[in-house]
Amino acid sequence: MSTATTTTSASRSTGGDVIIEAKDLVKHYPIKGGVLRRTVGHVKAVDGVSFELRRGETLGIVGESGCGKSTLGRLLMRLEDPTSGTVTFDGLEMYDQSGSAMRKLRRDIQIVFQDPYTSLNPRKTVGDIVGEPFDIHPDAVPKRGRRAAVQELLDLVGLNPEHINRYPHQFSGGQRQRIGIARGIALRPKVLVCDEPVSALDVSVQAQVVNLMEELQDQLGLSYVFIAHDLSVVRHISDRVAVMYLGKIVEFGTEDEIYERPTHPYTQALLSAVPVPDPTVRGKREQIVLHGDVPSPANPPTGCRFHTRCWKAQEECRTTEPGLVDRADGTAEHRSACHFASVREVLADIQPGDRPVDEQDFRPPA
Ligand code: ADP
Ligand code: MG
Repeated sequence: MSTATTTTSASRSTGGDVIIEAKDLVKHYPIKGGVLRRTVGHVKAVDGVSFELRRGETLGIVGESGCGKSTLGRLLMRLEDPTSGTVTFDGLEMYDQSGSAMRKLRRDIQIVFQDPYTSLNPRKTVGDIVGEPFDIHPDAVPKRGRRAAVQELLDLVGLNPEHINRYPHQFSGGQRQRIGIARGIALRPKVLVCDEPVSALDVSVQAQVVNLMEELQDQLGLSYVFIAHDLSVVRHISDRVAVMYLGKIVEFGTEDEIYERPTHPYTQALLSAVPVPDPTVRGKREQIVLHGDVPSPANPPTGCRFHTRCWKAQEECRTTEPGLVDRADGTAEHRSACHFASVREVLADIQPGDRPVDEQDFRPPA
């Protein structure tokens, strides 16, 4: 039986000015085996992903480790080329560009990595690290203006501009991530791809860094692709959210729709596992426990990839891949890829204050 190939875009093309449009993105990594190192299979890291990023918005991408989030981020940065599919950035086909057009494009999309401990060179000063993008794009700032430009960036991310000659080890984890962010915005990009930018930080520090990112977004008109496995952080910062499972988007919608009215069993299970600090709420909540491990992306299940772990799975799920279908009720935006999608209020009794990260911490300083 053939699988349905409904590759509808996760978002609707109407509404908002689109800055990135990804269409049917696929990235398969060859698996080499045997003494001859022949290709014996492929890891299907990203397997048909389509979405749009609107100007000024934050698109959250969530899913368990290994579902393809970082690969997707690298494809958007063109750190790797896809096996197939296209990314249009501001109207330009990203993978068709070369030379000066590609250089210009690279200025406009920057990345912030997860681990501020390993992504900063310990032997370089903060000034050198933050100014690195100016080495690659020397026309961005004249050489004589560099020090001032770097100090302005440090100030912008809440670091002391006087500390320009210090080394990464002289800063705390949160401050190091601020350094990473300063480097990310040095060229005044249009889009920042943030791959688990706060996952390595303490919860209280996470909130401060997320706050900073929101302020910078307003000030600089940035659009964010915010990748994380922490659902509460993603909820706080995102306008729309894509839930990934084994290389595919299984549910997509506005933050409210995804968190208040999830319709895909996988999203429902993920949300039911969000830790809740309040024991009275914890007791009332229904936890959905998924059985079995995530299958290998080298050999994903037929039909719906989630069927091997889904309590709703029927014969149809084993044979026919569900497309991303509109579930919106009224004007909201909401799509999910499930033959038996239905709203389940897993989080009905969870209020913003119940989130693992205290809402208080998210308020910008007065
Ligand atoms: P996530 O960021 O969601 O944890 P990744 O995008 O890092 O997921 O990985 C998705 C899948 O692709 C994983 O199975 C991972 O092992 C595999 N993968 C990622 N990068 C490579 C690579 N360069 N070569 C081979 N396999 C890779
Ligand atoms: Mg990752």
